Amino acid sequence: MSEKSYEAIKYDLIISRLKSRGVEVEDIAKITLELQQQYLKDISLETCVEHVKRVLIKREVQNAVFTGIELDVLAEEGKLSEPLSTLLMEDYGLYGIDEILALSIVNVYGSIGLTNFGYVDKLKLGIIKDLDSKQDGVVRCNTFLDDLVGGIAAAAAGSIAHRFADTSKVLAAYKASK
Ligand code: MG
Repeated sequence: MSEKSYEAIKYDLIISRLKSRGVEVEDIAKITLELQQQYLKDISLETCVEHVKRVLIKREVQNAVFTGIELDVLAEEGKLSEPLSTLLMEDYGLYGIDEILALSIVNVYGSIGLTNFGYVDKLKLGIIKDLDSKQDGVVRCNTFLDDLVGGIAAAAAGSIAHRFADTSKVLAAYKASK
């Protein structure tokens, strides 16, 4: 039996960390689908899944996911000191570092990823709404996770946009220039 590659080990760990917090690759891909459907009518969920996976392979994305989920879990377990503990448990709106961490994911795919991230963050699409909502009597902290999911979905949308861009007119313009 061949040994698992370093890349596969890292990828599998990210997937299991996300799962442990209730997030599947398909949940993220559904947000990407919603983002891209208005531009690419025939885009399938399978294509979105493929691009979400492509995003999750990147080291800086994995590091952001590890870091954010770890802080959410430590906050839930009451292991953070104040004031960080309260800032995270209350999902304090002016904390802002959750969005900043997620931007490191989005940056990988340039401005399309960035604008999509802002959109997702405002509308709380798909599973983000569930992650963001409080449940009575449940101690739970998804302060980082909702932004990480939004960042991954937005980055995947950027990846798709780059992949399926209609470059014919631009290519012609390049060819026409002397
Ligand atoms: Mg947040």
